[in-house]
Amino acid sequence: MIRWIAAWWEWLRDVLRNEDDDEYPTYHDYPDEAKSPEWVARRKRWVREWFEVKSYAPTCLVCHRGWTLADDLHHLTYLHLGEELFSELVPLCHDDHVKVHELFECDPSYLRAGRLHATTLVIRQLRALHSTESVQRLIAESEDE
Ligand SMILES: [Zn+2]
Ligand SMILES: [Zn+2]
Repeated sequence: MIRWIAAWWEWLRDVLRNEDDDEYPTYHDYPDEAKSPEWVARRKRWVREWFEVKSYAPTCLVCHRGWTLADDLHHLTYLHLGEELFSELVPLCHDDHVKVHELFECDPSYLRAGRLHATTLVIRQLRALHSTESVQRLIAESEDE
């Protein structure tokens, strides 16, 4: 119960903060961490929506590993917090989700870009890095043989 109140308070604080200043959104994915029943339900609905739209299983946007409900959904924006649109949530494995946050929370130029833009850029960057690493691994493996 206390946990729920704390989570709700944090949510309210984020909403108020977002209203105050659109250019400097908060960089904490409250619902990703707090296991509120609403968020759990939203995640389940998000998976159904994904299947309806894409008709294949979701994968992490960065490393393409299969995504399950045990993984994370990242908020591209907090515009509709609590009533997120399907397109505002993106699937990430936990490791890559942490990396996304580390990158865009540490770099002031990302902070200035705003959450949606920053996150999109960071995910693209991590994905490029991941494919470069995959290619390098393939080359290394082929050289081993
Ligand atoms: Zn991943
Ligand atoms: Zn996130």
